[in-house]
Amino acid sequence: MGDISPSQAPLITHIVLFKYRSDITWTDLQAHFDVFLQLPKKCLNKDGKPYMVSMKAGKNQSWEPFSKSLTHGFILEFASQSDLDYYLTRDPVHLAFSAAAKPFIEDSVVIDIHDGVLFGPSPAAPTISQQKTYPGSCHCQSITWEASLTDAKHILCHCNACQKLGGGPYSLNAIIERKDLRILKGEEGLKVYAYKGYSGKEVRCFYCAICTSHVYHQQEIMGEKIIVRTILLDGGRELGVGGEIFKEGRLGWVDELGKVLDGA
Ligand SMILES: [Zn+2]
Ligand SMILES: [Zn+2]
Repeated sequence: MGDISPSQAPLITHIVLFKYRSDITWTDLQAHFDVFLQLPKKCLNKDGKPYMVSMKAGKNQSWEPFSKSLTHGFILEFASQSDLDYYLTRDPVHLAFSAAAKPFIEDSVVIDIHDGVLFGPSPAAPTISQQKTYPGSCHCQSITWEASLTDAKHILCHCNACQKLGGGPYSLNAIIERKDLRILKGEEGLKVYAYKGYSGKEVRCFYCAICTSHVYHQQEIMGEKIIVRTILLDGGRELGVGGEIFKEGRLGWVDELGKVLDGA
């Protein structure tokens, strides 16, 4: 990479230095790096294509006394500021990774450079879309809630747990802060089903004890973030698609659905 002709804008280099907490287990750290190193392949733009140009990752090897206790460095390259902004603020794969990684990181330094640009202002921070609040309810209506979504779009999850629990090819989700979900009625009717997720950490599903609708779930690995099912929200049918996770579990005929059933 880095083979750029002079007519092209320079790559944007996103430099991230982390100090990992010293009390994380090896297994947790290994699982974290496994996901981290997959990001160049798993982070996809709206056309479903990888957009990260390159990533370098490694532990600090400097003997000089200037590391400020930062333990690891990550150098990511992007072709444009809008790709980097998408990565930082909207890419569901990166946002899920980032939320899961948060508890492991004690300190961090982040700077972005445009190779050769030594003067001038920084790009403006991307405008974060306004939060919008949606009412939600279970099938039997005994539990109602409202969820505030910052980027109101469905994130498709093709994982086996979603298929097994939901009975469909994928689930429709949004990752939000726990504080952005308010149970308005029937909280006492919520039951919890817990299982071990792919990370080996617990996933707790909160569902209606009467009708079994899935109100939200909480992954131990994601800290304060929770996942709500966007199709259970009023207006959920009108939302567009923002991305997909566990794409490898996508059933083969999903892409062809329109053609197959409409006979086109
Ligand atoms: Zn219900
Ligand atoms: Zn899933």
